[in-house]
Amino acid sequence: MSFSNQIKEDISALAARHCCVCHQHKGNNLEVHHIEAKAQGGEDTLENAILLCFDCHADAGHYFAGHPKGLKLSPSALKKHKNSWLEIVKENKINIPVLQDVSLSFSHNERTRLNPVFIRKTTIYKDIKELRKIDYKSILKDLPPTPLQVQFLDPKVDSFEDFINFINGEHIKKLNFQNPFENNSQPVHHSMDMYFGSTKSSNESICLINLILRNNGLKVLEDFKVYLKFENVVCADTVNKNTSYIDFEKYDYNVIFNNKTDAVFIPDYKVLVQKDFIELDQICFRTEENVNEIKITWHLLARDYDQKESFNLKIHSTIVDEEDVKYVESPEDYEPEIIILDKVN
Ligand SMILES: [Zn+2]
Repeated sequence: MSFSNQIKEDISALAARHCCVCHQHKGNNLEVHHIEAKAQGGEDTLENAILLCFDCHADAGHYFAGHPKGLKLSPSALKKHKNSWLEIVKENKINIPVLQDVSLSFSHNERTRLNPVFIRKTTIYKDIKELRKIDYKSILKDLPPTPLQVQFLDPKVDSFEDFINFINGEHIKKLNFQNPFENNSQPVHHSMDMYFGSTKSSNESICLINLILRNNGLKVLEDFKVYLKFENVVCADTVNKNTSYIDFEKYDYNVIFNNKTDAVFIPDYKVLVQKDFIELDQICFRTEENVNEIKITWHLLARDYDQKESFNLKIHSTIVDEEDVKYVESPEDYEPEIIILDKVN
């Protein structure tokens, strides 16, 4: 035999569905326990029943009088816990201490960016005939001197065909430029230029966030790490700390991405005292241009504690329209092409 449903309901109501030992409100994670074990002659009565959470139940279950190690929950200790908690409930003085509570929040500062800018480039096709009317040789003569970098592209324009290719940007396509921002989420790219040294280009299509982990509970957090998962992003990463192309420093990162969306935050110092906070390295991520919300799920694992939560971040993207004209023999055979590009400065 075990406790009747009547007794289970009664003890549950008397204890207001809180654990009688640790006073935590545990919802469904509660059990009715025998104060005096059945093997010791304990009965299935309300008198002998106590409501416990799974953790405290485990502690009570491990009690052996012959092995009084630590402060185990003996039947008489359980009885005292029960009586004092039922008294607190009766007097309506329930005040549950928050032992463990951690928050991972988003901090808004000048290094934050949640308003990515994208370029929507529409290629429209026009008839080559329109160009035939133009005296292209005189146009080229009147062009301002090309910058050093462009001279290297060497667009030799000796014929009308060359001129068309030049206008259509074929000479640039032939050079096979690699977009350094393709398939990654870094906001800045450093490169080497033979005239200007290390140069920097920044990508406005990338979002940047700073996250802060705070210990709001009454206990010290030890040996912790936080797993992070980004949803609704194309890819995410820790922002590269190198400041130029020739910066050969090996920087340490406390956030490490295992793939495009999953990371782990491992702090340098594995203790976080009450009320203190710790900053995660800055994270960058790329979204599709039409995304207006992303989700971050975090799972903190610490010694004797874990907590899993998620939150959403609003994204406000801007799309700038640009037009690209290409001249072809029969424009009626072509549909306008639309592509989304990064806005790079
Ligand atoms: Zn408990």
